[in-house]
Amino acid sequence: MSSSRRGFLRDIGLAAARQVASRIEPEPDEVPPSRLSEDEQHRYSRHLLLPEWSEAAQVAVREASVLVIGAGGLGSPVAMHLAGAGVGRLGIVDGDAVEISNLHRQHLHFTPDLGVAKAASAAAKLRFLNPDIVVEDYYARIDADNAEGMVEGQDLVVDCSDSFATRYAVNAACCAAGVPLVEGGVVGWSGLVMGIRPGESACYRCAFPLEPADAPSCAEAGVLGPAAGVIGSLQALEALKLLTGAAEPLVDGFLQLDLASLDVLRVSVARRDDCPDCGTL
Ligand SMILES: [Zn+2]
Repeated sequence: MSSSRRGFLRDIGLAAARQVASRIEPEPDEVPPSRLSEDEQHRYSRHLLLPEWSEAAQVAVREASVLVIGAGGLGSPVAMHLAGAGVGRLGIVDGDAVEISNLHRQHLHFTPDLGVAKAASAAAKLRFLNPDIVVEDYYARIDADNAEGMVEGQDLVVDCSDSFATRYAVNAACCAAGVPLVEGGVVGWSGLVMGIRPGESACYRCAFPLEPADAPSCAEAGVLGPAAGVIGSLQALEALKLLTGAAEPLVDGFLQLDLASLDVLRVSVARRDDCPDCGTL
């Protein structure tokens, strides 16, 4: 065989080998690009390291619009965790101004904020915490007249209000609009947390059909700062589960916590057909 013929066959062989190799090992530029920027990969790296988390979970959080109702003892930890986690659009609703008696537990507000609207005070801190997200503040009180308009278009609502009337209004609006909801409440040393998937799981009114007659407020009974922190953090935890599916959320029931004794009770709740908010009758 002539030397030119051998060279031709060698070249053919090398080309074929390269073709096989290219099928086995994709070229670097064939790896799908990350849907997170380099900054996002750094900022959320400790979430992304979790086996239960994923880039898709982080993208779901970034693309979510979440409304936090109340910027007080529960709303502070909820909003801080959700802003830190990268919720892309975070709304903060509150119709009060910062008072000195708030500061032992409402850690989005500092002493120089006394007299400032809580929604604006909270939003200012959250924008420093995470400048990559959009934070909108609403100086408003949620009631039965405006609740539906406020929850419409949200991917999730976290109710951190301190009144039963607001909770029932928010629950009814979320059920009507099909918006998932995380309810919470705290007073003294105890509190509860409940996740709701409207149309699928029991709602707040399924669990509590009537407002308790003698439930004291924090202004009447007091509240331990860390108790609000624990309950608010659990609400944020459940919110992230509902947004991402990274873990099984607490639905069809609620968690009741006595933080003095550290007794934790998980109470199952079934949907009620005659529920005025989510029932089918
Ligand atoms: Zn219901």
